[in-house]
Amino acid sequence: MPMPPFPGGPRPTHGMRPRRPPVPQAEPKQFESLRASLLFCPKCQTATPARERLLLVLPTGNLYEYNCAHCGTSTGSKTEQTQGNVGLIVP
Ligand SMILES: [Zn+2]
Repeated sequence: MPMPPFPGGPRPTHGMRPRRPPVPQAEPKQFESLRASLLFCPKCQTATPARERLLLVLPTGNLYEYNCAHCGTSTGSKTEQTQGNVGLIVP
């Protein structure tokens, strides 16, 4: 037997929107060759991909400088330590 409608009552729930579960997809790696991470550029006022540039070769390690890929402003630097494999440099 059909149920009488309820005026002002809760509406039937058969009209709910079909929910689509978000499909997790693998993010495409866009900066495969640009292995340096995003660094904040004060000139671009945003995080930009950085280009790695070898600045100095020191006995203790190599000094790298990071430049903004857009405007070339220096956004950071790092020293790559060469310790640990000293024994491999024996001629
Ligand atoms: Zn920049």
